[in-house]
Amino acid sequence: MQQIYSDPTFEMACDQFYLIADYLQIPDNLRERLMYPKRSVAVAVPVRMDDGSTKVFQGYRVQHHLSMGPTKGGTRFAPGVTLGEVAALSMWMSWKCALSGLPYGGAKGGIDCDPRKLSAGEMERLSRRYMQEMIPFIGPHTDIMGPDMGTNEQIMSWFMDTYSAHQGYAVPGIVTGKPVSVGGTYGRRESTGRGTVYLIERAAHQLKLKLSGGTAVIQGYGNVGAVAARGLAFKNGMHVIAISDISGAYRNDDGIDIKAVDRHVEKYGALAGFSGADPIPVNELLTTPCDVLIPAAVSGVINRNNAAKIECRILAEAANGPTTVDADKVLFQRWNEIFVLPDILCNAGGVIVSYFEWVQSLQSFFWNETEVMDRLFRVLEQSFGAVIKRAKEERIPHRIAALAIGVEKVVQAKKVRGLFP
Ligand code: NAD
Repeated sequence: MQQIYSDPTFEMACDQFYLIADYLQIPDNLRERLMYPKRSVAVAVPVRMDDGSTKVFQGYRVQHHLSMGPTKGGTRFAPGVTLGEVAALSMWMSWKCALSGLPYGGAKGGIDCDPRKLSAGEMERLSRRYMQEMIPFIGPHTDIMGPDMGTNEQIMSWFMDTYSAHQGYAVPGIVTGKPVSVGGTYGRRESTGRGTVYLIERAAHQLKLKLSGGTAVIQGYGNVGAVAARGLAFKNGMHVIAISDISGAYRNDDGIDIKAVDRHVEKYGALAGFSGADPIPVNELLTTPCDVLIPAAVSGVINRNNAAKIECRILAEAANGPTTVDADKVLFQRWNEIFVLPDILCNAGGVIVSYFEWVQSLQSFFWNETEVMDRLFRVLEQSFGAVIKRAKEERIPHRIAALAIGVEKVVQAKKVRGLFP
């Protein structure tokens, strides 16, 4: 069983799970049931390319557990995506949904592709064919898709349209993160970044740290990183002094003009060539001294090589799995220097608003943006309070507290439902 998921990200998710399982003293007979995905699907996705050739892409969907409702999770389009990586992300989704009190098991999907090298037409054919291959395994009451790295509202629309065409009627509940014009919700696009900023504000309040005039560093300038940058700069008066994306890293100690960055990315599609800051080696970004550090790109970037060199007051993990278990050991020792907002808490805004979107889609009854944001912040406030309380009471790091709350809820659900037959 382990072999099919063999991947460093899956190993990382398992190591993290074992740590929590030991902490919660979860009996051995429950551990494998909790850790291994319930269902995994691998599909070949043939696509007609613009040059007339046919290319077959490898796609995956993993549904981690089915004990608390349908499964829910995004779809990642990125080079080198593996079944193990998708399985790890699905496991983290399970703990995240449980921590936020959402009636879902975790899921995740992915296609091994490089979205930057695909034309719009190729992207549409790839998205539609992937959804077509997934139709037997998903549904608005069994497994709901959403966006993740490399996917966006347009792709969610193609997913929805393909599924709906197959059913013969519109099924908006099959996917979240779709445009408002086809039953999406206000606030979904901004939800993960805004949730991250809300939690940074709460952490700063706890630490009596003044954000205004403080410094922030952000890795990844996509949906989440860009929204977080705007929230920190425009709402909180912070200086974002360093940013990066797949094309490079940039630093300006006077504070980067975020509006200029947005204009540049809008025009050129990436940070490459941005003239409002100095290029720096990408591996220097995360160790740039700052008040708030936000990894908002890929997993495993804070590891044993740089954990001791991180110099921030708040580490807000907007990405999934940015910190390895090795790095965590270092951060645990530095708990009074660095306030960690662990990923399953920090980036939960996305799935919380996805849940709101799903509820609205099922009921065909829509909320305005204020209602969405108010409810989002209420849920985050509750999870933040629960994590801080548990960490204080049991004298444990925030990550252990967050995972313990999430895993415990899934354990409870599995126990009361029992083992069938
Ligand atoms: P995105 O595709 O919109 O943006 C990703 C950004 O990261 C891009 O700027 C890309 O260039 C950059 N990037 C990729 N590899 C990089 C690398 N090695 N170094 C530096 N930058 C790199 O994706 P997103 O939706 O913003 O997601 C970012 C992270 O947040 C992912 O880990 C994702 O799983 C997580 N997340 C996203 C959501 C959501 O709602 N979108 C929700 C929860 C968690």
